[in-house]
Amino acid sequence: MVLERIYNEVDIIVVNPLNIMVIEDNPGDLRWIKELMNGDKNINFNLECFEYLSKGLKHLNEQDFDLILLDLTLPDSKGIETLLKTLEVASDIPIVVLTGTKDEDFAIELVKKGAQDYLNKDKVDSISLIRSIRYAIERKRMELELLRTKNELSLILESSSELISYQNKELKIVWANKAAAESVDLTQEQLVGHYCYEIWAQRNTPCVDCPVLEAIKSGSSQKTEKSTPDGRSWIIRASPVENKKGDVIGAVEITLEITERRKAEQKLEESEENYRQAYNLANFYKDLFAHDMNNILQNILSSIEVSFLYHQKGKKYSDMKELLDIARDQVLRGANLISNVQKLSQLEETKIITQPTELNIYLKKAINNIQENLYEKEINIRYKLLDQKIIVQGNDILLVLFENILTNAVKYNKNKIVEIYIKMSKMKKEGVKYIKLEFIDNGIGVLDEYKEIIFRKGYKKDKTIKGMGLGLSLVKKIVMGYKGEIWVEDRVQGDYSKGSNFIVTIPEVK
Ligand code: ADP
Repeated sequence: MVLERIYNEVDIIVVNPLNIMVIEDNPGDLRWIKELMNGDKNINFNLECFEYLSKGLKHLNEQDFDLILLDLTLPDSKGIETLLKTLEVASDIPIVVLTGTKDEDFAIELVKKGAQDYLNKDKVDSISLIRSIRYAIERKRMELELLRTKNELSLILESSSELISYQNKELKIVWANKAAAESVDLTQEQLVGHYCYEIWAQRNTPCVDCPVLEAIKSGSSQKTEKSTPDGRSWIIRASPVENKKGDVIGAVEITLEITERRKAEQKLEESEENYRQAYNLANFYKDLFAHDMNNILQNILSSIEVSFLYHQKGKKYSDMKELLDIARDQVLRGANLISNVQKLSQLEETKIITQPTELNIYLKKAINNIQENLYEKEINIRYKLLDQKIIVQGNDILLVLFENILTNAVKYNKNKIVEIYIKMSKMKKEGVKYIKLEFIDNGIGVLDEYKEIIFRKGYKKDKTIKGMGLGLSLVKKIVMGYKGEIWVEDRVQGDYSKGSNFIVTIPEVK
């Protein structure tokens, strides 16, 4: 039975009276509560009373209450169950339990379960009842406020895409947000208690330069960038956490994954580098043509003009032959330059694709081409092939490679008879088998200080030096593409003037 409403308003006029629900089935106790409440004229309240728990709880849907005074022994519910059922429905309303028990442990259990306070009916007086109601309301307000702040904080931390964790001084994870857990496909609970370096770096000891450890040691915030074994990149910030005494007790780690950003930066750097190289290359070709082609054309023009003069003076063909030879040489030089530039630019654009290639075929072809060229020198090329069939990891550009080396051996030679000896041998380096070719000539040789730079593209600053300075850079590029090596030694060690030995190694295919 619903007890009649006892008070609508008490005599003190207060703007907002407290709405209190009393769930109590004993009319004597109820009357007594009413008297105690009236004992304090400073409190303005409405009491709404219910004999049954179910009815009281149902009424919570219809009206707002500031507090529930709850008797645990009711016709439809007994003991701690009464409190638990009330909490289920009224988790945000302060509850003061009215007990007849003297059992202190039970009373404390009630508070632990969620009651704000308990009152022993036998001991309570007006002052303690009113004080308990006020404290209960205030305590609940603070509890709800704390919960709200906690929920807000947790919402912020959980919705962050940054990985956030709190670690103790031993770097054990005490708390981690959702993003942190999802980054390693674990749940937040699974992370707790593990060392951070175990989880993210798959290590048994802290990482070198760990910012969290540094923040704990130094007591100041740290920031660093790191890569993990799975190839991802991160920006890690760590801030020390202090207790009230000012002692560091752990650190908060906030980590942002920047793998995609890094990749984009790398791509940008690569494309900038490619652009720079292309720009340099374009400049290089421009210079080459501007200087060297001009020079070639100038030489041809001079030869032709002088030929005209000779012709006007009625000179014989034999006198003019030298000029015609010059013009022809210059045309060949120009043609050679164009073909080398073309080949080089092709090699710049594409990676050199290699395949098992028969070396002897290209070597013999290059030797023939050189010998068929009209040089004013006698050319004597000797060679000894290792086997009839030598297979290397190369391609048909082998011909360009050999032709360039052989042409130089003829070109940079002041002897009437050019002697070239091609020596072939096998060697092994770091487990890889190579074919070693030595092009030994009796030419002018290469000074020690030039032995390396002659293989660099456009190394020549002094354009008065004969030649383009392009052939050997092309040759080196090809050899590198084959994963081989090229260098030059003296034919007679220590005396460069006796001729040079250009050595090429190319990986052999078994
Ligand atoms: P170029 O012949 O157009 O100068 P290369 O790149 O073919 O370009 O050669 C670079 C330089 O290396 C030559 O200018 C020359 O000084 C030197 N050189 C190349 N081969 C020989 C050789 N067999 N003997 C002496 N010097 C050589």
